[in-house]
Amino acid sequence: MHPAFDSRRYLIPFRSSLLPQIFTDTLVIGGGVGGLRAAIAAAEHGEVIVLAKEDAATSNTAWAQGGIAVVLDEADSFASHVDDTLTAGAGLCDASAVRAIVEAGPERIRELVEWGMRLDSAPGRHGPALGREGGHHHARIIHTDGDATGRELVRCLGERVARTAGVRIFTRCFALDLVTAGSAPGAPVMGAITHHPKHGLQMIWAKATILASGGAGMIYRETTNPKTATGDGLAMAYRAGATLADMAFMQFHPTTLYLAGATRALITEAVRGEGAYLIDEQGDRFMLDAHPMAELAPRDVVTRGIVRRLAQRGGTHVFLDVRHIRGFADRFPGIAQLLAKFDLDPAKDLIPVHPAAHYMVGGIVTDAAGRTDVPGLYAVGECASTGLHGANRLASNSLLEGLVMGEVAGRAARELTQHGRCGPPVSIPPPNGWAAPPRPAPIPVVSDIRPSEQAELDLTDVQSSLRSSMWRNVGIERTGNRLHDAIDMVDFWARYTLDKIFDTVEGWTVQNMLTVAALMARSAAWRAESRGCHWRSDAPEPLDAFAAHDQWRRGRAEPMPRRVEA
Ligand SMILES: Cc1cc2nc3c(=O)[nH]c(=O)nc-3n(C[C@H](O)[C@H](O)[C@H](O)COP(=O)(O)OP(=O)(O)OC[C@H]3O[C@@H](n4cnc5c(N)ncnc54)[C@H](O)[C@@H]3O)c2cc1C
Repeated sequence: MHPAFDSRRYLIPFRSSLLPQIFTDTLVIGGGVGGLRAAIAAAEHGEVIVLAKEDAATSNTAWAQGGIAVVLDEADSFASHVDDTLTAGAGLCDASAVRAIVEAGPERIRELVEWGMRLDSAPGRHGPALGREGGHHHARIIHTDGDATGRELVRCLGERVARTAGVRIFTRCFALDLVTAGSAPGAPVMGAITHHPKHGLQMIWAKATILASGGAGMIYRETTNPKTATGDGLAMAYRAGATLADMAFMQFHPTTLYLAGATRALITEAVRGEGAYLIDEQGDRFMLDAHPMAELAPRDVVTRGIVRRLAQRGGTHVFLDVRHIRGFADRFPGIAQLLAKFDLDPAKDLIPVHPAAHYMVGGIVTDAAGRTDVPGLYAVGECASTGLHGANRLASNSLLEGLVMGEVAGRAARELTQHGRCGPPVSIPPPNGWAAPPRPAPIPVVSDIRPSEQAELDLTDVQSSLRSSMWRNVGIERTGNRLHDAIDMVDFWARYTLDKIFDTVEGWTVQNMLTVAALMARSAAWRAESRGCHWRSDAPEPLDAFAAHDQWRRGRAEPMPRRVEA
């Protein structure tokens, strides 16, 4: 990486001893599915603090529509769900992680139902209704109110957290940096430095810290993600010395509403699962020729199908045709309401759609217990790289992963805070550096950095230039030349943005976004092949040389590739 990204350990200067101090057993950064589920598990011993930089309703989880993939039907099998996941992952999944997460799914759902989560049912079927989505060979997607699964999941987990003794939620509280005992990579994490509009900067000391800070869709001009998805946790983990992998793999969702002035609202894959067609301006159903599963092919295939068709025939968007689907508004009430705002009637009108950045597949490397390679730090959910998704995420596997890995990491954090054990709950040896028991008391930390003397910045301009450049150069179709242009541009902006000291969330966010963008562009430039959701038109096939995870760590100029075991 460019020295601009690696020279500073922290975004701001501070002396921990001069800040207000808060102590907890477990600190969870993130209030989506991963963070809330982890908090419930961790709170079985000791105190837990959950941070969310906005309110509970602003997270990728709350916006999730389609549902949760889980094997509940007798005619379905774990083996089939595992196979579908491995196929989507294009050779980069960790098969044991896939099996473990898929097999833990039914128990996590049973528990949600016990906690009061409402799920849609189907007439004549015992148990919840099961929908079908792209890449799944079986109907196994459970959902709520048709297309409001995430909202109900957040409600259910949020209420459970509220009833769990020992958990406090700090909303509108922004984590700036993980605090470590020393600044060399591998120094243990002892909590985080945070900013709250009312309380200012605070030190939160924790025996275990769980990052559940979600994805980074906002790094792209076109995205389905809420404004909170700026990759803060990825950047924080990088500065703290954790290993990140497979950052090239940003999944683009094929179908977001494409209307001037409208946010790029997602039109869930479940709509295609119910039989929607994709057609071009001339009314041709172009996915029939592109893949045997047509509109239900994996996301990257459908996304590329759309981009190719637009390149062949021109235009800015294609259409979803749902006019033949009976009861569309009952099955997808949220989407029907959204369309009505733009005077579109799904029974009569075509829905204009275009792909947009959707899901961060790569992330902070963890083992099967959610442990990163920085002692005391766990990562779960979209910010983590557990090996479930490989080079591409199978639809609706992410809420499943958040639930399963949230519980596992929360339980592992509990073992650490309660017993000082870092081995259980999985019988795998702890990563290097984890052998020491938790620290009895925090060590004073000093971050001593000088502000740059350069001029003030227009942060909005840096952010919008970055998002446009990422969309153009590190977007759906990539080439080596354009990726290197993007690296040069991001490095240039970083040189005069990362040396500043900001005192606003906006400034820290732009610094985080630049760091994550630099990792993504470099990872995509390194991966001179096409695989999963990473498509290089100058290297259109997967290559054996890249059957590997590219791993990045602060202080190293080049990635450390880790080959996938055959
Ligand atoms: C529109 C949309 C639809 C989707 N539909 C589905 C679906 O149907 N099925 C499926 O499986 N997946 C779906 N996904 C993906 C899925 O929702 C996410 O991958 C998943 O919810 C991520 O959960 P998470 O807990 O990791 O992060 P999130 O739910 O994004 O939560 C992140 C949390 O971290 C907090 N945070 C971030 N940075 C900071 C910081 N610096 N300081 C403090 N707090 C911070 C945020 O405030 C937030 O509370 C969808 C995503 C989107 C955007």
